[in-house]
Amino acid sequence: MDFLAGNMGWIEVVCGPMFSGKSEELIRRLRRAMIARRRVQVFKPVLDNRYSKEEIVSHSDQRLGSTTVNSADEILKQLDWRTQVIGVDEANFMGPGLVEVCGQLADSGKRVIVAGLDTDYMGRPFPPIPDLLAMAESITKTLAICMRCGNPAKQTQRLVESEDLIVVGAAGMYEARCRACFEAGVPKQEMLPFSRPVSRG
Ligand code: ADP
Ligand code: ZN
Repeated sequence: MDFLAGNMGWIEVVCGPMFSGKSEELIRRLRRAMIARRRVQVFKPVLDNRYSKEEIVSHSDQRLGSTTVNSADEILKQLDWRTQVIGVDEANFMGPGLVEVCGQLADSGKRVIVAGLDTDYMGRPFPPIPDLLAMAESITKTLAICMRCGNPAKQTQRLVESEDLIVVGAAGMYEARCRACFEAGVPKQEMLPFSRPVSRG
C-alpha cells in the first residue's frame, strides 16, 4: 500500500477515537514516503493548538513538521504542486470542503492520507469523515484501550461538562472508552479496576 505505480492518486483514511494512534500511523506512513524520496506536505487545522503550531504531534510525542490552515480550501493554496504525498491530521476539524479537496488532489495524481475522529463525544459520525470513508481507496480503523475496563476502545469519552461539539484538549478532558463503557455526554459510571496490557516488546 505504500507505493503506487505510475501517477495514480488515491485517498487513505485513518480513523478512530482519541488516543488510538491515528497521528502515529499518519506520521509512520509519511516518514516511509519520505524514505522513498517522495515529496511530502502535511496539513492540520488551526483549531488544534494543543501542542506546537508548526508540527503534528502524537500523544506519544512523535512529531512531524506541518502547515497550519484555516480551512480545507487553504490546502490547495498552500500546496506545492510538485508534492506527491499529502497528509492531513485532525481532519474532522477541517470542515465539509475537505471531501472535495481530497477528491481533487487524488484525481490529480496525489496520494492523500487523512487522519481524524470518526465519531464525536456523543458517539455520532463526525463529518466529513463518513464521506471521506466512502470516497477512499483504503480505510484503517484504529482502536485505543478503554480507560475504564481495558478492552479495545472505539469511542471518545468526554470527561468535562460541555455541549459544544468541539472542546479542544486531551489529557483530563477526554479518554478512550469501549462500546460498553462509553456514555454519551459526561460519564456517571464508576471506574473499573483493570490490569494494563503487558508490553511484549
Ligand atoms: P490519536 O492521534 O488517535 O489521538 P496518537 O497517535 O496521538 O493518537 O497517540 C497514540 C498513543 O497514545 C499510543 O501509542 C499510546 O502511547 C498513547 N495512549 C494514551 N492513552 C491511550 C489509550 N487509552 N489507548 C491507547 N493508547 C494510548
Ligand atoms: Zn470498557
